[in-house]
Amino acid sequence: MTILHKDIHHRVELIEDGLWQIGFNFPTSTNCWLYQESDGLVLVDTGNSWNHGTILDTVERTGQPLRKIIITHAHPDHAGSAAALSEATGATVYAHKEDVKYINGTKSMASLPGSIESRLLHSTADRIGILNPSPVKNVLALEDNQIVGTLHVIHTPGHTPGSISLWSEKRKALFVGDNASNGWLRLRLNFSWFTLDCDRLKESFSKYKRFPSSLLLPGHGAAYRSRDAVADLLSLLH
Ligand SMILES: [Zn+2]
Ligand SMILES: [Zn+2]
Repeated sequence: MTILHKDIHHRVELIEDGLWQIGFNFPTSTNCWLYQESDGLVLVDTGNSWNHGTILDTVERTGQPLRKIIITHAHPDHAGSAAALSEATGATVYAHKEDVKYINGTKSMASLPGSIESRLLHSTADRIGILNPSPVKNVLALEDNQIVGTLHVIHTPGHTPGSISLWSEKRKALFVGDNASNGWLRLRLNFSWFTLDCDRLKESFSKYKRFPSSLLLPGHGAAYRSRDAVADLLSLLH
C-alpha cells in the first residue's frame, strides 16, 4: 500500500496495482474505491454529496476515464456524489434493484421497516434533511449474481434492503459496503446504528462462503488483508 495523498479532509492510497482507496475523514469516514477494468475505471461508492470534486481530481490523476459507478447501498454517505459524478463524467450508475428508488429520489428511506433503533435514526435523519442522497436520474438496477465488468454482484441485504457486496475473482477481493468495517485496527460486523435488519444481515454473511478472498474493502476503515479474510469475518459471528 502506498499513500499518494493525505490532508485533513481525505487520504488517497494505492492498495495494489489498479486499486485505489479514497478515504474521507470528517464527518462519516466513508471510503470510495477506484478499480481498474480494461476499458477504464469503476468507482465503488461515491462519498457524501460534497465529495465529488476530490473524487474527480483523483480520477484525473489516474489518467483513466470513469466508466461505471456502483453503489453498495443507498445511504447518503455512499450514494451522495453519484448524481454529480455521473453528470460530470457520463459514467453509468448501478445499484441493487431494492435500493434504486431511494437513489433516484422516488422514495425516502424513512419509510423502510426495521429495528426500533434504526427507524428512530432514519426518521431523525430524514427530519433534518440528511437521510436521502441527491437523486440520480438514471440508475441501472442490479440483481443478485449479476456480473458488472469483472465484478460479481452479491445481494447481501440487512443493512439496507438493497445492500450489495462485490467480488473480484482475479484479485480475490471483496467489497463489503457497510456490512462490516475495519476501524481502530479491528474488523467488525455492522449490527448497529443504521442497520435495519440485523437477522437478515446475519443470513447474508453466509453468502460470502462462496467467494474466497484475501482482501476485504469495507465502506469505513482500512482495507483488510488476510490469507482467508472471509473466514476471519465469519468467525466474528460466533
Ligand atoms: Zn450505510
Ligand atoms: Zn456507511
